[in-house]
Amino acid sequence: MTIDEERGQDYLHGHSHDHGEMSELSDTQLRVRSLETVLAEKGYVDSAALDAIVEAYETRIGPQNGQRVIARAWADLDFRAKLLEDASTAVNTMGNVSAVGSHLIAVENTPERHNMVVCTLCSCYPWEVLGLPPTWYKSAPYRSRAVLEPRAVLSEFGVTLPDETEVRVWDSTAETRYIVLPLRPEGTQGWSEEQLGALVTRNSMIGTGLAKCPDGKKGGS
Ligand code: FE
Repeated sequence: MTIDEERGQDYLHGHSHDHGEMSELSDTQLRVRSLETVLAEKGYVDSAALDAIVEAYETRIGPQNGQRVIARAWADLDFRAKLLEDASTAVNTMGNVSAVGSHLIAVENTPERHNMVVCTLCSCYPWEVLGLPPTWYKSAPYRSRAVLEPRAVLSEFGVTLPDETEVRVWDSTAETRYIVLPLRPEGTQGWSEEQLGALVTRNSMIGTGLAKCPDGKKGGS
């Protein structure tokens, strides 16, 4: 069968092979792909530059950067003090692929106070250290309920705090982002930064989780 004949067959059957492949993409993906193609053809964007950005988010920008920051703050009291004093400057000494702006604030959990972060207005998030925000962070219920009933939200994330522990909720803005410094789990004396980093979860840096326990149990009690 020639190409033209094949096209004719496709036409009769009401579909084409091209269409069959494309239909695996969602409407949004198709729209993004079309837009990218047009912009690249007109020379407004460089496909290689876009690929580099996507690759950076997939492999180098993510919660693993925050994990390293928290692990170092647990292991190194001098770094910890610097982080709490000026998180932007402290984090930027670690050589991450994307430097944080002058707006990052680290808030320290203690037995007396648990910190939790939200953006009530939209979805402001310290992406340089935590990567892209999870869907729930951007959802309307989280954005309103984190402020109105933080303990109820925490319990839905499996976190139950003693009644005497104060819960403080921080509202992010375009100018100010927060990272939570979770409590260091007990039983981790002498651990390396790498070992400690494995206990740091993304949610523990947002305040909707606790660091993992060394025995592998989920933090939360
Ligand atoms: Fe926002």
